[in-house]
Amino acid sequence: MAKNKKDNSDFMSKCSFCGGEFGAQEMTVLEEKEQKTTLHATCRECKTSALFFISNGQAGLLSLGVATDLDKEEVKNKFSRFAVTADEVIDAHQLVSQGDVAKLFQ
Ligand SMILES: [Zn+2]
Repeated sequence: MAKNKKDNSDFMSKCSFCGGEFGAQEMTVLEEKEQKTTLHATCRECKTSALFFISNGQAGLLSLGVATDLDKEEVKNKFSRFAVTADEVIDAHQLVSQGDVAKLFQ
């Protein structure tokens, strides 16, 4: 599974809902650490907001996008008590696949 190292911004340049592009201006970095980055982005076209969890660990680059109703200020507030670890990203992924995204922010 040899893949080129890609810029983190590359994978999520398109909105999963309408295919519109996320511009750099629409992205807010909530947390940036050596092996994980969390961003909030809003689509220019449909105004869908999404959280992106990017984890760069032993398994390689893992990215997860979660649609959210929260704007970036609300996300910042929530995020201060929602510290994401690699394990929690996996938990988040499980919640997403179960359709329980809302639990992330309870
Ligand atoms: Zn969109």
